[in-house]
Amino acid sequence: ERHQQLSRFSGPGRTKDGVPVALLANIGTPDDAEKAAVQDVEGVGLFRTEFLYLDRPSAPTVEEQTSTYVSVLRPFGSRRVVVRTLDAGADKPLQFAPSGEEENPALGVRGLRLAQRTETLLTDQLTALAAAAAQCDADVWVMAPMVATPEDARWFAARARAAGLPKVGVMVEVPSAALRSTQVLADVDFASIGTNDLTQYALAADRMLGELAGLLDPWQPAVLDLIASTTRGAGESVSVGVCGEAAGDPLLALVLVGMGITSLSMAPGKVAAVRAALAMHDHARCVEMAVAARAAEDPRAARAAVVDLLAEEA
Ligand code: PEP
Ligand code: MG
Repeated sequence: ERHQQLSRFSGPGRTKDGVPVALLANIGTPDDAEKAAVQDVEGVGLFRTEFLYLDRPSAPTVEEQTSTYVSVLRPFGSRRVVVRTLDAGADKPLQFAPSGEEENPALGVRGLRLAQRTETLLTDQLTALAAAAAQCDADVWVMAPMVATPEDARWFAARARAAGLPKVGVMVEVPSAALRSTQVLADVDFASIGTNDLTQYALAADRMLGELAGLLDPWQPAVLDLIASTTRGAGESVSVGVCGEAAGDPLLALVLVGMGITSLSMAPGKVAAVRAALAMHDHARCVEMAVAARAAEDPRAARAAVVDLLAEEA
């Protein structure tokens, strides 16, 4: 029955009053791409590329990467595919570019920092992606993980544009980038908020520790404040999406849209419920929900405040 209810809605995401919110899939392999592409999604909001690099003695060649990227892009036709560059580090070590022993891998040489240490890792990836894009119709966007400063963003954007990629962005998953989004996003076309890491770093709570689940909740008002800071500081021309777990929670999705988020990327199985939630509420209502959630003291109260507003509507 729930399935029937959800399938009343289809196609591009939009609020009840028609404000578009792109509904995208998170994927990690060509197999995921084939499965996601036949779902009702507007494309990919996060293609994690780590699988290409892990558990092998040498880095993948440009040719090997190109053919893998083609197999991911093709199934999506002309739809958007947002590719994230390599996010390896001490927790996901590479045999051919060891990060060394780090006491705190989450705070170490991971994501873009590894690319800054071994630049060919990034430039080969960008070259391969541009070559694949040239062979496909997909609308290819590229973004870097673990961007902390305006200099990081500029460093990445210069290389991505030099490779010929037209849509260049950064992930906002470090609080410093969320707090200073005007400066960090000054030279990019889009941002995608990674709420998994943003929550980990905002609450100083290791995302691998189940014991800290209470802190590791994207409904934490401090996390909502960082998301609001990101959208407030982003210029008119910079679109801001969310690609962490938060995007797949239908109630939280409303709050995110109320804070100015214009795309949501999630496990494909979660898209229908998020689409249905959006279709039932006007954008102004989402703004009210965001205000109420941010006024709350803790995650439970934030959620309850949104539920109360929904009950009023019914
Ligand atoms: C995130 O940090 O929210 C994210 C989407 O990236 P990952 O989970 O791969 O770190
Ligand atoms: Mg992350």
